[in-house]
Amino acid sequence: MPTRKSTPTPPSPRPLVAAAREAATRAHAPYSGFRVGAALLTGDGRIFTGCNIENASYGLTLCAERVALAKAVSEGATDFRALAIAGGAADTPATPCGACRQALAEFCPPRMPVWYAGLAAGSARATTIRKLLPHAFTLDF
Ligand SMILES: [Zn+2]
Repeated sequence: MPTRKSTPTPPSPRPLVAAAREAATRAHAPYSGFRVGAALLTGDGRIFTGCNIENASYGLTLCAERVALAKAVSEGATDFRALAIAGGAADTPATPCGACRQALAEFCPPRMPVWYAGLAAGSARATTIRKLLPHAFTLDF
């Protein structure tokens, strides 16, 4: 009897967006008041979350996306399947800043789904790493 090769289930935005929204509740954003959460899904089903962490010197501020990425990579996880971001209003959800787009492009496949949704409400919008950062800088010559 032929064995059936299982196809991995495509990731769903709902649990990831929920994880990103929960992570945003831990944001340290006393200066901007702009809370952001991020949740990165790995191939083995783990979710690494991050929140923005501001600093009085402003320039040291960490974005939620790069916090999640640093947590995952430092734990040995580099096989990423999807990212969700929660921030901003339902009708104008936040997208990653330029620095985060480049950092994500270092580890995430270009076609990886990225969902972004308002901090507290609204449905997620979908994009990809490649659409967020076309012509990303790489050392692949
Ligand atoms: Zn950023």
